[in-house]
Amino acid sequence: MRTPRPRLRHRYLLALGTFLLPLAVLAVLGQTELQRSGIQAQGALDSGARQFLASAVKEIDQELARYMPPLLEASQRRLAELGPVRTVLELGAQERFAALRDIIVLDERASLIWPTPPPGTLSLPFSRDSRGALQAADLLLRRGLYQDGITLLEHFIEQLVAASPPGRGRRPEMWDSELRARFLLGTAERRLGHADLARPEFEKASSLAGRFRDTEVAAIGLSADLAIAELGTTADRLKLLREIANSEREARVADGLLTAVAQRLAVGIPAEDPDRATAEALLLEEHQRAATRAFAGYYDLVLKYGLRLRRIRQASQSEFVSDADPEERIVSTPSDATTLLSLRAATAAEAQRWHGCAHIGLHVDLNVLLAPILRAFTGTNGTFTLAVSDPDDVPMLPSPAAVPENFVPPSRETYGGLTLRAYPANGERLIAQAEAAARNRTLLMLALFVTALGGALWSWRSVSREAELADLKIDLVSRVSHELKTPLALIRMYGETLGLGRARDPEQASHFGGIITRESERLTALIQRILDFSQQQAGTLQYSPDVVDLGRLLRAVCDAYTPHLEARGAILVETLPDNIFVRCDANACESAIVNLLENAAKYGVDGDDDREIELDLRAETGMATIEVRDRGRGIPRGELDRVFDGFYRASNSGEVRGAGLGLSLVRHFARAHGGEVLARPREDGGSVFRLTLPLAPPADRPLEPTAANGKAHPAPSAPPPDRT
Ligand code: ADP
Repeated sequence: MRTPRPRLRHRYLLALGTFLLPLAVLAVLGQTELQRSGIQAQGALDSGARQFLASAVKEIDQELARYMPPLLEASQRRLAELGPVRTVLELGAQERFAALRDIIVLDERASLIWPTPPPGTLSLPFSRDSRGALQAADLLLRRGLYQDGITLLEHFIEQLVAASPPGRGRRPEMWDSELRARFLLGTAERRLGHADLARPEFEKASSLAGRFRDTEVAAIGLSADLAIAELGTTADRLKLLREIANSEREARVADGLLTAVAQRLAVGIPAEDPDRATAEALLLEEHQRAATRAFAGYYDLVLKYGLRLRRIRQASQSEFVSDADPEERIVSTPSDATTLLSLRAATAAEAQRWHGCAHIGLHVDLNVLLAPILRAFTGTNGTFTLAVSDPDDVPMLPSPAAVPENFVPPSRETYGGLTLRAYPANGERLIAQAEAAARNRTLLMLALFVTALGGALWSWRSVSREAELADLKIDLVSRVSHELKTPLALIRMYGETLGLGRARDPEQASHFGGIITRESERLTALIQRILDFSQQQAGTLQYSPDVVDLGRLLRAVCDAYTPHLEARGAILVETLPDNIFVRCDANACESAIVNLLENAAKYGVDGDDDREIELDLRAETGMATIEVRDRGRGIPRGELDRVFDGFYRASNSGEVRGAGLGLSLVRHFARAHGGEVLARPREDGGSVFRLTLPLAPPADRPLEPTAANGKAHPAPSAPPPDRT
């Protein structure tokens, strides 16, 4: 292809831009589109999901509005009289308020009045003076050497009392050592079955424990009380159990220990004993008490500050529950259950029972309360399924397992932190749909891409072709005008000479006339080629094929053409056997051979030694092969094929006149008849042109070929001699 001219270069760019720019935009859009494909489903879901969430929120609102006021009211009626523990047990026992977990009593700054939060970490104030003796006694008792242990402990207590008599000036370690020694002594006596000896030691230990405020001593005191109750009657057991259940023993004692002691007291009462039922009821209260205290710990740590912050935000710093807003709600997750803490103002009776009491807090388990409501919003039957997580993002209703990748569920927040999310009920189906859509989009993108690329290439090709055609046109005009100019100039010159009667003699006049005839024949031949070539380019060049005896046809050509060749100093050596039949347009075939011979004469005769032009005909492997060989200037290797292009002339064609159309017509003729023409260099210089045509099938050959062909193809007239 030739270098495009500037105007065409613009067209190239325009053609490329027209396709490549949208292509690039398309590619970028497609890429983004594919990345978002997983999320795409969401858009379609959005409005439906919002409606779904709105109705879930509405249901929750309605359920709370239905549940909380009666609960608050019921708690008001019982609390002052029954206390929080039994109120919770009684209301919880009713089906209706099964979600109620705890009731706490708060002052006006929302600090706990009941229950007091559990004690902190244990401290162990051992008496350094007495640790050795006590440890030795403990060891003896563990080994079952009770008597030895008792002797050691009695001796230890005796010495302790002598050295530091009980009274005001006694150091705390001494009290502590006596307390531990007496507890161990009581334990040892009890093991030996000496209840009467054990009991006073436990009683002394219990009363000494009252002097201390630390948790370990409180635990020893409780253990001593347990031993006393166990050594006494069922009434003694029930008394201690009731004290524990009524929260009288909880100061400084860990809840786990209190629960363990309560259980041991209850289990110690035989099943058939009528008091066992009382013990079981007390045990239940004790469980509720311990649970409420655990919640109170969480409340003190977390919820109280949450409440205060909210209130500060509402610019009312002292009152937590105003008249206008009789109930305050806060949602949180103390352990694994989602809490709704509902605060109401204390009644006069409640305020009287607990000094400073201003608010009552009801801890409701939201999971239990909302479970029946939420169940209606889950499942795979509808379009959506609900997932709920609490303020700490702990799921109350977990999200479904199958969710499309990158799917962001529409969500809505309610009740100080409950987050409701809507997921497609049938995730698998949605995933399958999303995947199918993504696949389709990919295919579509691919198809668009290929189309756009195809368009760009096509456009490139057509612009290139246009450029070539434009070049051809320009070449055609310049070459044709150049080729026409010389013969016309000669015709005019010799015509004028003759017209003015300037010829010397009749012989010269006839010579001039001959030149005029030859040049006009050249003109005719050239114009014929141009016409053929333009028809070939337009695809309208027609042939009339017939069965032809090639040898005979070529001989006729040679007969007509030899004088002309000889005039140019060339000698034609021919080998043309008969009976090689092909099916072709005889006139076109003659023109092709004349073209090759003419070229051989024009470019192939260089000097005296190289005058021979060989013309061969043979039949081989189904083809008739015509070869024209010369010993001329040859064709440069890189141009052996290009000389068959229209208007192409080899770089070494030099001063030889020509339009570069002949070989293009030869190739067109050969190919149109199922053959080929090729040029190759000849050994020791020169060129070989080989034209092949398919042999006519035997059935097509005439019975008397010579006669038939002789009639069909009269010998062509001699072509005009070329001037070079
Ligand atoms: P033209 O002869 O009018 O230029 P052609 O199409 O017949 O056009 O030939 C194309 C070119 O091929 C010629 O210009 C010439 O350079 C080269 N050519 C053709 N025949 C020969 C030959 N026998 N020897 C050397 N070069 C040749």
